[in-house]
Amino acid sequence: MDDILLKVEGLKKYFPITGGIFGKKKGDVKAVDDVDFYVRKGETLGLVGESGCGKSTTGRMLMRLIEPTEGQVIFEGKDLGKLNANEMRKMRKDMQMVFQDPFASLNPRHTVEKILEEPLIVHGIGTAKERKQRVKEMLEVVGLSSYHAKRYPHQFSGGQRQRIGIARALMTKPKLIIADEPVSALDVSIQSQVLNLLEDLQKEFQLTYLFIAHDLGVVRHISDRVGVMYLGRLVEITTAEKLYEKPLHPYTQALLAAVPIPDPSLKKARELLTGDLPSPSDPPKGCAFHTRCKECMEVCRTTRPELRELEPGHFAACHLYG
Ligand code: SF4
Repeated sequence: MDDILLKVEGLKKYFPITGGIFGKKKGDVKAVDDVDFYVRKGETLGLVGESGCGKSTTGRMLMRLIEPTEGQVIFEGKDLGKLNANEMRKMRKDMQMVFQDPFASLNPRHTVEKILEEPLIVHGIGTAKERKQRVKEMLEVVGLSSYHAKRYPHQFSGGQRQRIGIARALMTKPKLIIADEPVSALDVSIQSQVLNLLEDLQKEFQLTYLFIAHDLGVVRHISDRVGVMYLGRLVEITTAEKLYEKPLHPYTQALLAAVPIPDPSLKKARELLTGDLPSPSDPPKGCAFHTRCKECMEVCRTTRPELRELEPGHFAACHLYG
């Protein structure tokens, strides 16, 4: 498939657990454990799971904000792990992140103009006049006004701050945006405005999105395909249509049952997710979901199911399907 912008192969991030007075290594937290996926040009891949499932660590590894323990991240045919610091810095012009907490990610002492100009300065793009012009343009593109350039982050609402975060990510005309829970900190009434904005921007600028969220409801309309992660691994990945119509993995089914729907009579008879997420430092043997799964069988306690293509384009890791 030559329309693939980003490909991830065997991606792992293990954080060592140390202890005792000599700080000896006692084990690893397998935050991300052998994850493969791809994102086509112009598409949105949603990456969903509870907090601690490894989705944000995955997003940060794509940008090499966290170095992978193992595995490859191929962006536009280039293996990012082989780039030196300078080459990686240049590459980040084409891959940008939008963060969950817009306030924490915007320097409170800088005006919006300075915040938005910074990526252009870092990448040596444009003259001072051109940069200021682009700041004004981008503010308007994200639904703010050029006079906002002289204000400071605390003078904006949460939704407006996220618009500033999005404008900053777009300043260098990136190809890929990794959006890490971009609407989770916002009021529900504002969430759909920001999601609509992201959709409009995608069309206007032919953007590709990796959209990370803990809620399947949030990514439903924006995603072309969705991957579901549990304890560091992908447990299901397919088109958004198939995932919401006919989820195969019991964990996806439980996550979907938790999505609020306007008419309760439409709610399918599914069991809600119960029990706590096990510790990633000591994940259950066999299928990591077996301690919470209503369908758990004997084999699930001992043997880990591999992610397999169960229907064309529909992959899941579950022993229920033989
Ligand atoms: Fe449940 Fe077993 Fe499938 Fe895991 S492999 S999700 S425990 S049925």
